[in-house]
Amino acid sequence: MSRLFPLNRVPLRSLIPVLCLLFGFQSCIDTHHTNRVALQPLGDFDNAWMDSVSVSIKEIYGLETVIRTDMDIPKATFINVKSPRYRADKLLRFLNSVRTDTVHYIQGLTMFDISTTKHDKYGKVKEPESKYYDWGIFGLGQRPGTASVVSTFRLKNEDKSLLISRLRKVCVHEIGHNMGLKHCDSGMPCVMKDAVETIKTIDGEPLSLCTKCKKKVD
Ligand SMILES: [Zn+2]
Ligand SMILES: [Zn+2]
Repeated sequence: MSRLFPLNRVPLRSLIPVLCLLFGFQSCIDTHHTNRVALQPLGDFDNAWMDSVSVSIKEIYGLETVIRTDMDIPKATFINVKSPRYRADKLLRFLNSVRTDTVHYIQGLTMFDISTTKHDKYGKVKEPESKYYDWGIFGLGQRPGTASVVSTFRLKNEDKSLLISRLRKVCVHEIGHNMGLKHCDSGMPCVMKDAVETIKTIDGEPLSLCTKCKKKVD
């Protein structure tokens, strides 16, 4: 009896759509997910700001963004040591828990103040502890990792275009950490410079990577 479907004569490439249907479409499109970032508003967040961030992430890293619908900032991350803030380290865990398989990275964006604990080179809380246990920050990103969070609270300025410029730089900086980039010591202008606790550093750096950092993420 002749074989109706001689599989050994069918090129493997032509079987890929069939295999996708058989074994689930998900695994076949996995490679595309590494190019996507979910932008997750936590509480009200201006859509125009979100669009600016999206454009910058695309320009600098070639990553696509998916703007997600607003979620309340989780109450469990709230702290009130020096002033009302939300713990950025806990927000990163939360963001990873709501990240779906359709994206590789997730970046939370909020207008609330966020904070973390600053450590010294020995891993102890930086002195004075009362200052650094709950330290207000612009943003935090895992290095390497999949989650980052950025707040506009400390980027505020009367000049809206300056605020947007700062926001874009901090968002691009934190995604850089997710992609494995450390703070830049190339001596060239670079968005990956350590802000060293001041907004002036952010204002003084360009919205671009130096050639050394760029090479590492290309
Ligand atoms: Zn950094
Ligand atoms: Zn650099």
